[in-house]
Amino acid sequence: MKKSHILLLYTGGTIGMIKDTETGSLKAFNFSDIYEQIPVLNQFKCKITSYSFKPAIDSSNINASLWSKLAHIINNNYGKYDGFVILHGTDTMAYTASALSFMLEDLYKPVILTGSQLPIGMLRTDGMENLITSIEIASATENNKAIVPEVCICFENKLYRGNRTTKHNSEHFTAYKSNNYPILAEAGISIKYNKKAIHYPEHHKILRIYDKFSDNVAILKIFPNINQAFVSAVLNTKDLKGVVIETYGSGNALTEDWFFEELIKCVEKEIVLINITQCSTGGVDMGRYETSLKLKQIGIISGHDMTTEAAITKLMFLLGQNFNYIQVKMYMQNSLAGELSN
Ligand code: ASP
Repeated sequence: MKKSHILLLYTGGTIGMIKDTETGSLKAFNFSDIYEQIPVLNQFKCKITSYSFKPAIDSSNINASLWSKLAHIINNNYGKYDGFVILHGTDTMAYTASALSFMLEDLYKPVILTGSQLPIGMLRTDGMENLITSIEIASATENNKAIVPEVCICFENKLYRGNRTTKHNSEHFTAYKSNNYPILAEAGISIKYNKKAIHYPEHHKILRIYDKFSDNVAILKIFPNINQAFVSAVLNTKDLKGVVIETYGSGNALTEDWFFEELIKCVEKEIVLINITQCSTGGVDMGRYETSLKLKQIGIISGHDMTTEAAITKLMFLLGQNFNYIQVKMYMQNSLAGELSN
């Protein structure tokens, strides 16, 4: 049987740190001699080649050009490798996973993002387990086909669809949640795949990548006692093309006249407004309450059960492809990569 070949991409983040034996301090790990640093990897049936971003970045500094770099590396190496594991800081991993899920069209190989809460070079690290499980999943095949041909996040024994995840805990090893979509796999004594929840492409098509993003977007989180000056400042941002509005519960917001006037001005300027819930589970159902019916009537669209991470990256992505107002509104409400249920 042919040995799987995995490309391990280290972008930065806590996982890639190891203790300097002389000074005792944590320093970035050299992934080029990964087999020397983590000898247990020799036990895998697959071959691993690694590539590190230089400089490695804290994921707080991730941006569209680094997403584009990742997509191009995957595309340029797509024929050579059976799967890709991306080591990434945990803070923005859900944004990167969402962005990649939109950028990589017709993906049929695994792209697994992982990281850790404690550096790989520390005694109680969660990084080793996360790395090993991710490599195992990225190289898993059945009938010569990848078992998980999706962009995923693997963390603390669970595999999630990337664009459904949110970082919900800054301390515990279980840092991620996917509240609106089932987990794709769980690692115990063996790895159990939830094949019903995994997306399998119908036809084997060629991977296509889209690497443009717009930054003419904003997120407006509603809170009690919000004032007009603030809302107006956000909505009148120069060159604004789209806003994710984080509302209460099933999509409700204040009903004061000034608020609607500000929103209507945006709709008239063809700025796409998407309604997302602040709740971590469930979605938007505009019209269930009077407080959301009017939002629907003035032309605000529902983001259904998308996470904020998926909604904002999708909006930047669609605007980056130069789709017009009607097209962006239409695609925002429909699933492109399994990011929403409707
Ligand atoms: N600040 C770090 C990052 O996101 C935290 C981590 O790696 O978990 O890059």
